[in-house]
Amino acid sequence: MRKPFIAANWKMNKTIGETKSFLDEFIPLVKDAKDVDIIIAPPFTSLGIASAMLKDTNIQLSAQDIFYEEKGAFTGEVSPVMLADAGCEHVIIGHSERRQYFHETDEIVNKKIKAARKQGLDVIFCIGESLEERESGKTLDVLEREVENGLKDVPADGIVVAYEPIWAIGTGKTATIEQAQEAHKYIRERLASIYGNKANEIRILYGGSVTPDNVDSLMACEDVDGALVGGASLKPDSFARIVKFKK
Ligand code: PEP
Repeated sequence: MRKPFIAANWKMNKTIGETKSFLDEFIPLVKDAKDVDIIIAPPFTSLGIASAMLKDTNIQLSAQDIFYEEKGAFTGEVSPVMLADAGCEHVIIGHSERRQYFHETDEIVNKKIKAARKQGLDVIFCIGESLEERESGKTLDVLEREVENGLKDVPADGIVVAYEPIWAIGTGKTATIEQAQEAHKYIRERLASIYGNKANEIRILYGGSVTPDNVDSLMACEDVDGALVGGASLKPDSFARIVKFKK
């Protein structure tokens, strides 16, 4: 039985003050949500306040990115040790915005995943096809390549996969239930080819315009174990409703 996993990716949104206001309202809204992992990934500048406020709550902290070296002359980067020290238990790696705007390759993603796991951080590993790739029938090939390259020589423990079709991120277009289930089932088969039966324990999240209105039907898919939520995670009531999805 895979425990549902609902994660908020705030991207480059919220100051420290806005993070505090959100959490003041959100923490009580979900305090009784027991059978679900709840994760919030604020920007780096809000990790400190979030870590302090999430202490002794049922909400876990994630970073949105990481660098793969431990320390040194890498201006602007943040290491696995620093993220753990800041109170993170998770880190998002390979988000399509990182791949698209910051030229992250599968190889870089793989190095980041290894570095995060070495430090004991759990990884939310993002994959997904562009509209062009979907329309030219390449979706499954892209997913296969990203899974195999991203998870090369990475043990299964501490890995959560997020399937995020790029054309559905921030666009208001959600994958249909059939498209989501087809992709998730295929990803699980690819994971099984790497990890055998352990693939059944790996949670696969759907991401791409998840809202309070569509979360229930997405979560009803057999291979959808959770959600990675951008826009709809920025308001406490909307994200709380997603956390409390109905199956
Ligand atoms: C995301 O960025 O991970 C995401 C899924 O964004 P949105 O929910 O806004 O589509």
